[in-house]
Amino acid sequence: MRVQVAIIGAGPAGLLLGALLHRAGIDAVLVEQRSAEYAPGRIRASVLEQTTVDLLDAAGVGERMHHEGLLHDGIELCFGGARHRIDLKKLTGGKHVMVYGQTEVTRDLMHARDAAGLKTIYEAEHVSLQDFDSARPRVRYQQAGATHEIECDFIAGCDGFHGVSRASVPASAIQIHEKVYPFGWLGLLSETPPVSHELIYSNHERGFALCSMRSLHRSRYYLQCPIDDKVEAWSDEAFWAELRRRLDPEAAESLVTGPSLEKSIAPLRSFVAEPMRFGRLFLAGDAAHIVPPTGAKGLNLAASDVGYLSRALAEFYAGSETGIAHYSDRCLRRIWKAERFSWWFTSLMHRFPETGAFGQKLQAAELDYLVHSTAASTALAENYVGLPLRD
Ligand SMILES: Cc1cc2nc3c(=O)[nH]c(=O)nc-3n(C[C@H](O)[C@H](O)[C@H](O)COP(=O)(O)OP(=O)(O)OC[C@H]3O[C@@H](n4cnc5c(N)ncnc54)[C@H](O)[C@@H]3O)c2cc1C
Repeated sequence: MRVQVAIIGAGPAGLLLGALLHRAGIDAVLVEQRSAEYAPGRIRASVLEQTTVDLLDAAGVGERMHHEGLLHDGIELCFGGARHRIDLKKLTGGKHVMVYGQTEVTRDLMHARDAAGLKTIYEAEHVSLQDFDSARPRVRYQQAGATHEIECDFIAGCDGFHGVSRASVPASAIQIHEKVYPFGWLGLLSETPPVSHELIYSNHERGFALCSMRSLHRSRYYLQCPIDDKVEAWSDEAFWAELRRRLDPEAAESLVTGPSLEKSIAPLRSFVAEPMRFGRLFLAGDAAHIVPPTGAKGLNLAASDVGYLSRALAEFYAGSETGIAHYSDRCLRRIWKAERFSWWFTSLMHRFPETGAFGQKLQAAELDYLVHSTAASTALAENYVGLPLRD
């Protein structure tokens, strides 16, 4: 098979890149190791920045999101037994975020891909990347015991943190920056109305809690937990009781509980691999960087990476190499700002066993400053709604 772009991974980054390239008249194939049924089942992000909404619109897949997604004008910070609203809209001159689940984004992109008759190779085994330091890269994979090869002009490595693309780059050509946090997030999804119409981020002496949602009748809640905790050790009842303890009395009282549809523990990590271009291979999304989910930036960064990449490839086929030459620098400028924000918000909201009482006093002082200073609230708000895509 011969295509212009071979995309490794059919997560949000790969699927959105495929849709944007199709709109630009560029021929691409997606190579995914999992089945078509597996991908939309992954319960992950739900907060979309305006730049992500714009990219989904540009890809022609925004219709259901605008119909079913929830526009949020603010978030609430809970500490010291009370909630304090950060008015995102007022502080950013009218911006907001869209709450629409990653599962739904993935479904919309897969549906649009099928409707346009675009090719995705699912259940591809032993995917390997060849000759991406030359003008004729190739992707090899196995399916049903047979080996196949794709010839292409470029490879987009959109295969997540554990994928093959970053691992194919010689260690001497890549620099890794990493911070692993000493706790995880225990998440629970339930078919219950959200406790509040906006997200609640709670700093509590027992640990962080987040009240999030997927829709007006489906909620997603998280608790900070020890990194070595086992999900089997948490009954639904134990989860709800612990969540109540970490909320203000009014929220604890009005919380509607129900059986969990899904429960899982995710580790928290900050990670950047740079650069993001190696000859004719480009990394995008979680393949190149990870943020702790506190700032809701992971999916949004994946989207902005492929926004830059689709534009760079369109410029290449129109005769200019400027976009692909600057791809890595453009992405990393935005990524490091999101890394900083996600690290800061994580540090502010979680209990860090090693910092003790001094660290907790500093957190309390900063939270108090944050909600009473317009300058500090504005800095939080403009990072939360997402920094603009810059050239
Ligand atoms: C448990 C969890 C909770 C999260 N919660 C949030 C949140 O609340 N907010 C937020 O913004 N972000 C969150 N994130 C992050 C967000 O989900 C990711 O940033 C987003 O999924 C990145 O998309 P991606 O397409 O780059 O990578 P992925 O979604 O990881 O997709 C990569 C794709 O590549 C495929 N693949 C992997 N290896 C290969 C291979 N060798 N060959 C072919 N295909 C391969 C995978 O099967 C997958 O389909 C969370 C992540 C996790 C793990």
